[in-house]
Amino acid sequence: MTELGSHESDVLGLFREHGSLSRTDVITLSGLSRSTINQRLAALTAAGLLQPLEGGESTGGRPSSRFAFRADRAVILCADIGATGFTAAACDLSGTPLAQTEVAIDVWEGPEPVLGAILEAFRSLRPDADVWAIAIGVPGPVEFAAHRVVNPPIMTGWDRFDIAGWFSPAYAAPVIVENDANARAVAEARHHRLDNVIALKLGTGIGAGLVFNGQIIRGDKGAAGDIGHTRAVIVESPARECRCGSFDCVEAYAGGWAIERELDQAGLTVHGVRDIVELVQRGDIDAVRRVRGAGRVIGDAIADLVSILNPRAIALSGQLAECDEVLMSGIRERVYQRATPLVTRDLVIARSDLGALAGVIGLALISSDAILRPASLDEILKRATAPV
Ligand SMILES: [Zn+2]
Repeated sequence: MTELGSHESDVLGLFREHGSLSRTDVITLSGLSRSTINQRLAALTAAGLLQPLEGGESTGGRPSSRFAFRADRAVILCADIGATGFTAAACDLSGTPLAQTEVAIDVWEGPEPVLGAILEAFRSLRPDADVWAIAIGVPGPVEFAAHRVVNPPIMTGWDRFDIAGWFSPAYAAPVIVENDANARAVAEARHHRLDNVIALKLGTGIGAGLVFNGQIIRGDKGAAGDIGHTRAVIVESPARECRCGSFDCVEAYAGGWAIERELDQAGLTVHGVRDIVELVQRGDIDAVRRVRGAGRVIGDAIADLVSILNPRAIALSGQLAECDEVLMSGIRERVYQRATPLVTRDLVIARSDLGALAGVIGLALISSDAILRPASLDEILKRATAPV
Protein backbone atom coordinates (compact mmCIF):
# COMPACT_ATOMS: atom_id res chain seq x y z
CA MET A 1 0.00 0.00 0.00
CA THR A 2 1.18 3.53 -0.75
CA GLU A 3 2.12 5.45 2.36
CA LEU A 4 -0.89 7.67 2.78
CA GLY A 5 0.69 9.90 5.35
CA SER A 6 4.12 10.08 3.79
CA HIS A 7 3.48 13.48 2.27
CA GLU A 8 2.86 16.51 4.41
CA SER A 9 -0.11 17.64 2.34
CA ASP A 10 -3.33 16.29 3.77
CA VAL A 11 -5.40 14.98 0.84
CA LEU A 12 -7.88 13.20 3.12
CA GLY A 13 -8.21 16.43 5.10
CA LEU A 14 -9.47 18.18 1.96
CA PHE A 15 -12.21 15.56 1.60
CA ARG A 16 -13.10 15.78 5.29
CA GLU A 17 -13.57 19.50 4.86
CA HIS A 18 -15.38 19.52 1.52
CA GLY A 19 -17.17 16.13 1.44
CA SER A 20 -16.70 15.34 -2.24
CA LEU A 21 -14.16 16.68 -4.72
CA SER A 22 -13.09 16.06 -8.29
CA ARG A 23 -9.58 14.89 -9.14
CA THR A 24 -8.91 18.35 -10.58
CA ASP A 25 -10.19 20.05 -7.38
CA VAL A 26 -7.74 18.00 -5.33
CA ILE A 27 -4.83 18.88 -7.60
CA THR A 28 -5.71 22.58 -7.39
CA LEU A 29 -6.32 22.61 -3.62
CA SER A 30 -3.30 20.50 -2.67
CA GLY A 31 -0.79 21.88 -5.16
CA LEU A 32 0.47 18.31 -5.71
CA SER A 33 1.20 16.75 -9.09
CA ARG A 34 -1.42 14.72 -10.96
CA SER A 35 0.59 11.51 -10.59
CA THR A 36 0.95 11.97 -6.83
CA ILE A 37 -2.75 12.69 -6.50
CA ASN A 38 -3.68 9.68 -8.62
CA GLN A 39 -1.59 7.47 -6.38
CA ARG A 40 -3.04 9.01 -3.20
CA LEU A 41 -6.65 8.76 -4.39
CA ALA A 42 -6.13 5.11 -5.33
CA ALA A 43 -4.66 4.32 -1.92
CA LEU A 44 -7.40 6.13 0.01
CA THR A 45 -10.03 4.38 -2.11
CA ALA A 46 -8.43 0.98 -1.51
CA ALA A 47 -8.44 1.76 2.23
CA GLY A 48 -12.16 2.44 2.05
CA LEU A 49 -11.82 6.09 3.09
CA LEU A 50 -12.86 7.47 -0.29
CA GLN A 51 -15.62 6.32 -2.55
CA PRO A 52 -15.55 6.91 -6.34
CA LEU A 53 -18.79 8.65 -7.27
CA GLU A 54 -18.94 7.83 -10.96
CA GLY A 55 -17.30 5.49 -13.46
CA GLY A 56 -14.76 2.97 -12.18
CA GLU A 57 -11.04 2.54 -11.83
CA SER A 58 -11.00 -0.86 -13.50
CA THR A 59 -12.02 -2.70 -16.68
CA GLY A 60 -10.21 -0.20 -18.87
CA GLY A 61 -12.97 2.40 -18.47
CA ARG A 62 -12.31 6.03 -17.80
CA PRO A 63 -11.01 6.51 -14.24
CA SER A 64 -13.44 7.95 -11.75
CA SER A 65 -13.18 11.71 -11.66
CA ARG A 66 -15.04 12.44 -8.44
CA PHE A 67 -14.63 11.03 -4.93
CA ALA A 68 -16.41 11.38 -1.59
CA PHE A 69 -15.19 10.91 1.97
CA ARG A 70 -16.58 7.71 3.50
CA ALA A 71 -17.33 8.79 7.05
CA ASP A 72 -18.96 5.39 7.64
CA ARG A 73 -15.65 3.56 7.10
CA ALA A 74 -15.22 3.08 10.88
CA VAL A 75 -16.65 4.26 14.18
CA ILE A 76 -15.29 6.21 17.10
CA LEU A 77 -16.72 5.11 20.44
CA CYS A 78 -17.23 8.12 22.70
CA ALA A 79 -18.30 8.49 26.32
CA ASP A 80 -19.06 11.89 27.80
CA ILE A 81 -18.90 11.48 31.59
CA GLY A 82 -20.76 13.80 33.94
CA ALA A 83 -20.99 13.66 37.72
CA THR A 84 -24.17 11.56 37.71
CA GLY A 85 -24.23 9.84 34.33
CA PHE A 86 -22.59 9.39 30.97
CA THR A 87 -23.66 9.52 27.34
CA ALA A 88 -22.03 6.86 25.17
CA ALA A 89 -22.20 7.00 21.38
CA ALA A 90 -20.83 5.31 18.32
CA CYS A 91 -19.99 8.16 15.94
CA ASP A 92 -18.87 8.04 12.34
CA LEU A 93 -15.60 9.60 11.22
CA SER A 94 -17.26 12.98 10.65
CA GLY A 95 -18.55 13.10 14.24
CA THR A 96 -22.16 12.16 13.57
CA PRO A 97 -23.65 9.94 16.29
CA LEU A 98 -25.03 6.72 14.80
CA ALA A 99 -26.24 5.11 18.03
CA GLN A 100 -26.23 6.36 21.59
CA THR A 101 -27.27 5.53 25.12
CA GLU A 102 -27.42 7.31 28.47
CA VAL A 103 -26.43 5.55 31.67
CA ALA A 104 -26.67 6.77 35.27
CA ILE A 105 -23.46 6.47 37.34
CA ASP A 106 -21.79 8.25 40.21
CA VAL A 107 -18.38 9.55 39.17
CA TRP A 108 -17.33 9.39 42.85
CA GLU A 109 -17.31 5.61 42.61
CA GLY A 110 -13.96 5.92 40.87
CA PRO A 111 -12.64 4.95 37.45
CA GLU A 112 -13.05 1.17 37.42
CA PRO A 113 -16.82 0.84 37.94
CA VAL A 114 -17.49 3.82 35.66
CA LEU A 115 -15.21 2.60 32.87
CA GLY A 116 -16.72 -0.87 33.27
CA ALA A 117 -20.19 0.56 32.65
CA ILE A 118 -18.84 2.49 29.64
CA LEU A 119 -17.28 -0.65 28.17
CA GLU A 120 -20.59 -2.45 28.54
CA ALA A 121 -22.38 0.45 26.80
CA PHE A 122 -19.79 0.51 23.99
CA ARG A 123 -20.33 -3.20 23.35
CA SER A 124 -24.03 -2.60 22.85
CA LEU A 125 -23.47 0.13 20.21
CA ARG A 126 -22.68 -0.94 16.63
CA PRO A 127 -20.92 -4.14 17.81
CA ASP A 128 -19.83 -5.15 14.29
CA ALA A 129 -18.27 -1.86 13.24
CA ASP A 130 -14.55 -1.24 12.89
CA VAL A 131 -13.47 0.80 15.93
CA TRP A 132 -10.73 3.28 15.10
CA ALA A 133 -10.65 5.30 18.31
CA ILE A 134 -12.03 5.47 21.83
CA ALA A 135 -12.71 8.93 23.29
CA ILE A 136 -13.50 9.62 26.92
CA GLY A 137 -14.68 13.06 28.09
CA VAL A 138 -14.28 13.85 31.79
CA PRO A 139 -15.42 16.73 34.01
CA GLY A 140 -11.92 17.66 35.16
CA PRO A 141 -8.50 18.83 33.99
CA VAL A 142 -6.82 16.50 31.49
CA GLU A 143 -3.18 16.07 30.61
CA PHE A 144 -4.03 15.52 26.96
CA ALA A 145 -0.75 14.04 25.71
CA ALA A 146 -0.74 11.48 28.55
CA HIS A 147 -4.49 10.74 28.21
CA ARG A 148 -4.98 11.21 31.94
CA VAL A 149 -7.09 13.20 34.34
CA VAL A 150 -4.90 15.35 36.62
CA ASN A 151 -5.78 16.68 40.08
CA PRO A 152 -9.53 16.69 39.53
CA PRO A 153 -11.25 18.65 42.28
CA ILE A 154 -14.13 16.20 42.53
CA MET A 155 -13.24 12.92 40.80
CA THR A 156 -11.81 10.92 43.68
CA GLY A 157 -9.57 8.09 42.50
CA TRP A 158 -9.30 9.34 38.91
CA ASP A 159 -6.10 11.33 39.40
CA ARG A 160 -3.57 10.01 36.82
CA PHE A 161 -5.54 6.76 36.37
CA ASP A 162 -4.38 5.03 33.18
CA ILE A 163 -7.63 5.22 31.18
CA ALA A 164 -5.96 4.20 27.89
CA GLY A 165 -4.33 1.19 29.55
CA TRP A 166 -7.65 0.15 31.02
CA PHE A 167 -9.27 -0.08 27.56
CA SER A 168 -6.33 -1.77 25.82
CA PRO A 169 -7.39 -5.40 26.52
CA ALA A 170 -10.78 -4.65 24.92
CA TYR A 171 -9.80 -2.47 21.95
CA ALA A 172 -6.65 -2.11 19.86
CA ALA A 173 -7.66 1.45 18.96
CA PRO A 174 -6.02 4.56 20.39
CA VAL A 175 -7.73 6.10 23.43
CA ILE A 176 -8.18 9.85 23.68
CA VAL A 177 -9.06 11.53 26.99
CA GLU A 178 -10.42 15.05 26.86
CA ASN A 179 -12.02 17.57 29.18
CA ASP A 180 -15.80 17.56 28.66
CA ALA A 181 -16.11 21.32 28.16
CA ASN A 182 -13.24 21.36 25.62
CA ALA A 183 -15.08 18.69 23.62
CA ARG A 184 -18.23 20.83 23.62
CA ALA A 185 -16.31 23.90 22.49
CA VAL A 186 -14.91 21.97 19.51
CA ALA A 187 -18.39 20.68 18.61
CA GLU A 188 -19.84 24.22 18.70
CA ALA A 189 -16.96 25.76 16.74
CA ARG A 190 -17.18 23.17 13.94
CA HIS A 191 -20.96 23.06 13.84
CA HIS A 192 -21.29 26.83 13.49
CA ARG A 193 -18.01 27.28 11.58
CA LEU A 194 -16.68 29.69 14.19
CA ASP A 195 -13.04 30.15 15.20
CA ASN A 196 -13.61 31.68 18.64
CA VAL A 197 -16.02 29.99 21.01
CA ILE A 198 -16.47 29.49 24.74
CA ALA A 199 -18.54 26.45 25.75
CA LEU A 200 -19.99 26.46 29.25
CA LYS A 201 -20.91 23.12 30.72
CA LEU A 202 -23.38 23.73 33.50
CA GLY A 203 -24.45 20.69 35.46
CA THR A 204 -23.55 19.45 38.91
CA GLY A 205 -20.33 21.45 38.43
CA ILE A 206 -19.26 24.28 36.13
CA GLY A 207 -16.63 24.09 33.41
CA ALA A 208 -15.60 26.14 30.39
CA GLY A 209 -13.99 24.99 27.17
CA LEU A 210 -12.10 27.54 25.09
CA VAL A 211 -11.55 27.26 21.35
CA PHE A 212 -9.70 30.19 19.83
CA ASN A 213 -8.31 30.45 16.31
CA GLY A 214 -9.89 27.02 15.85
CA GLN A 215 -7.68 25.41 18.51
CA ILE A 216 -8.43 24.27 22.07
CA ILE A 217 -6.68 26.40 24.66
CA ARG A 218 -5.52 23.81 27.20
CA GLY A 219 -2.89 25.74 29.10
CA ASP A 220 0.33 24.27 30.41
CA LYS A 221 -1.27 21.63 32.66
CA GLY A 222 -4.62 21.16 30.95
CA ALA A 223 -6.41 23.28 33.53
CA ALA A 224 -7.36 26.26 31.33
CA GLY A 225 -11.04 27.16 31.46
CA ASP A 226 -11.72 25.62 34.87
CA ILE A 227 -13.83 28.60 35.92
CA GLY A 228 -15.90 26.68 38.50
CA HIS A 229 -13.17 26.99 41.08
CA THR A 230 -12.20 30.59 40.47
CA ARG A 231 -13.42 33.03 43.12
CA ALA A 232 -16.94 34.39 42.75
CA VAL A 233 -17.01 38.17 42.19
CA ILE A 234 -19.68 38.83 44.80
CA VAL A 235 -19.30 36.71 47.92
CA GLU A 236 -21.31 36.33 51.08
CA SER A 237 -20.35 36.36 54.69
CA PRO A 238 -19.68 33.83 56.12
CA ALA A 239 -17.73 32.40 53.18
CA ARG A 240 -19.31 29.46 51.35
CA GLU A 241 -17.36 26.23 51.40
CA CYS A 242 -16.84 24.57 48.02
CA ARG A 243 -16.69 20.83 47.42
CA CYS A 244 -13.08 21.30 46.28
CA GLY A 245 -12.12 22.28 49.84
CA SER A 246 -11.69 25.98 49.07
CA PHE A 247 -14.11 28.82 49.82
CA ASP A 248 -16.27 31.13 47.73
CA CYS A 249 -15.65 29.36 44.41
CA VAL A 250 -18.09 30.15 41.57
CA GLU A 251 -19.41 26.59 41.97
CA ALA A 252 -20.22 27.16 45.63
CA TYR A 253 -22.80 29.73 44.46
CA ALA A 254 -23.82 28.54 40.99
CA GLY A 255 -22.98 24.85 40.63
CA GLY A 256 -25.93 22.46 40.44
CA TRP A 257 -24.81 20.87 43.71
CA ALA A 258 -24.82 24.25 45.48
CA ILE A 259 -28.27 25.22 44.20
CA GLU A 260 -29.49 21.80 45.29
CA ARG A 261 -28.05 22.41 48.79
CA GLU A 262 -29.77 25.81 49.00
CA LEU A 263 -33.14 24.51 47.88
CA ASP A 264 -32.79 21.66 50.32
CA GLN A 265 -32.16 24.15 53.12
CA ALA A 266 -35.26 26.05 51.98
CA GLY A 267 -37.26 22.88 52.63
CA LEU A 268 -37.68 21.62 49.05
CA THR A 269 -36.96 18.02 48.14
CA VAL A 270 -34.35 18.05 45.41
CA HIS A 271 -32.28 15.10 44.18
CA GLY A 272 -29.95 16.20 41.45
CA VAL A 273 -29.94 18.89 38.78
CA ARG A 274 -32.89 17.35 36.95
CA ASP A 275 -35.12 18.20 39.93
CA ILE A 276 -33.90 21.82 39.89
CA VAL A 277 -34.78 22.09 36.20
CA GLU A 278 -38.20 20.62 36.88
CA LEU A 279 -38.89 23.13 39.68
CA VAL A 280 -37.83 26.02 37.43
CA GLN A 281 -40.01 24.75 34.60
CA ARG A 282 -42.92 24.54 37.01
CA GLY A 283 -42.27 28.16 38.00
CA ASP A 284 -41.28 27.51 41.63
CA ILE A 285 -40.35 30.95 42.96
CA ASP A 286 -37.46 29.79 45.15
CA ALA A 287 -35.90 27.74 42.38
CA VAL A 288 -36.34 30.46 39.74
CA ARG A 289 -34.78 33.07 42.03
CA ARG A 290 -31.79 30.89 42.86
CA VAL A 291 -31.13 29.80 39.27
CA ARG A 292 -31.37 33.40 38.06
CA GLY A 293 -28.88 34.33 40.79
CA ALA A 294 -26.62 31.49 39.66
CA GLY A 295 -26.74 32.94 36.13
CA ARG A 296 -25.50 36.27 37.47
CA VAL A 297 -22.64 34.58 39.33
CA ILE A 298 -21.64 32.75 36.14
CA GLY A 299 -21.98 35.96 34.09
CA ASP A 300 -19.70 37.77 36.56
CA ALA A 301 -17.24 34.88 36.41
CA ILE A 302 -16.91 34.96 32.62
CA ALA A 303 -17.25 38.70 31.93
CA ASP A 304 -13.52 39.39 32.24
CA LEU A 305 -12.70 36.23 30.31
CA VAL A 306 -14.99 37.48 27.53
CA SER A 307 -13.25 40.87 27.52
CA ILE A 308 -9.81 39.28 27.44
CA LEU A 309 -10.48 36.61 24.80
CA ASN A 310 -13.26 38.17 22.70
CA PRO A 311 -15.26 35.07 21.66
CA ARG A 312 -17.92 35.18 18.92
CA ALA A 313 -20.23 32.84 20.80
CA ILE A 314 -20.84 31.40 24.24
CA ALA A 315 -22.69 28.09 24.02
CA LEU A 316 -24.39 26.68 27.10
CA SER A 317 -24.87 22.98 27.63
CA GLY A 318 -25.26 20.55 30.51
CA GLN A 319 -28.39 19.74 32.49
CA LEU A 320 -28.65 23.09 34.29
CA ALA A 321 -28.70 24.85 30.89
CA GLU A 322 -32.17 23.32 30.46
CA CYS A 323 -33.36 26.11 32.79
CA ASP A 324 -32.97 28.13 29.61
CA GLU A 325 -33.86 31.84 29.83
CA VAL A 326 -34.10 31.81 33.63
CA LEU A 327 -30.40 30.95 33.74
CA MET A 328 -29.30 32.77 30.60
CA SER A 329 -30.87 36.12 31.46
CA GLY A 330 -28.58 36.39 34.51
CA ILE A 331 -25.53 35.44 32.47
CA ARG A 332 -26.36 37.94 29.71
CA GLU A 333 -27.13 40.70 32.21
CA ARG A 334 -23.70 40.51 33.84
CA VAL A 335 -21.66 39.89 30.69
CA TYR A 336 -23.25 42.85 28.89
CA GLN A 337 -22.84 45.02 31.99
CA ARG A 338 -19.21 44.22 32.63
CA ALA A 339 -17.53 43.25 29.35
CA THR A 340 -16.31 45.94 26.99
CA PRO A 341 -18.80 47.14 24.32
CA LEU A 342 -16.71 46.04 21.35
CA VAL A 343 -16.50 42.43 22.49
CA THR A 344 -20.24 42.19 23.17
CA ARG A 345 -21.28 43.82 19.88
CA ASP A 346 -21.69 40.58 17.91
CA LEU A 347 -21.47 38.19 20.83
CA VAL A 348 -24.08 35.41 20.87
CA ILE A 349 -24.95 33.82 24.22
CA ALA A 350 -27.26 30.86 23.62
CA ARG A 351 -28.03 27.29 24.52
CA SER A 352 -26.22 24.76 22.38
CA ASP A 353 -28.41 23.44 19.59
CA LEU A 354 -26.48 20.16 19.70
CA GLY A 355 -28.28 19.27 22.93
CA ALA A 356 -27.12 16.39 25.08
CA LEU A 357 -24.93 15.04 22.27
CA ALA A 358 -22.60 18.07 22.07
CA GLY A 359 -20.00 16.28 24.21
CA VAL A 360 -19.82 13.05 22.20
CA ILE A 361 -19.82 14.95 18.89
CA GLY A 362 -16.86 17.03 20.06
CA LEU A 363 -15.03 13.93 21.30
CA ALA A 364 -15.51 12.23 17.91
CA LEU A 365 -14.25 15.30 16.03
CA ILE A 366 -11.15 15.62 18.21
CA SER A 367 -10.47 11.90 17.73
CA SER A 368 -10.96 11.90 13.96
CA ASP A 369 -8.62 14.90 13.70
CA ALA A 370 -6.02 12.94 15.64
CA ILE A 371 -6.30 9.61 13.80
CA LEU A 372 -6.87 10.90 10.25
CA ARG A 373 -4.06 13.43 10.11
CA PRO A 374 -1.32 12.30 7.72
CA ALA A 375 1.13 11.40 10.48
CA SER A 376 -1.22 8.86 12.13
CA LEU A 377 -3.25 7.59 9.20
CA ASP A 378 -0.83 4.84 8.18
CA GLU A 379 -0.74 3.47 11.69
CA ILE A 380 -4.54 3.31 11.85
CA LEU A 381 -4.78 1.59 8.49
CA LYS A 382 -2.20 -1.01 9.43
CA ARG A 383 -4.36 -1.99 12.39
CA ALA A 384 -7.65 -1.71 10.58
CA THR A 385 -9.30 -4.71 9.04
CA ALA A 386 -10.33 -4.86 5.38
CA PRO A 387 -12.93 -2.34 4.24
CA VAL A 388 -16.50 -3.40 4.87
ZN1 LIG B 1 -14.08 25.03 44.44
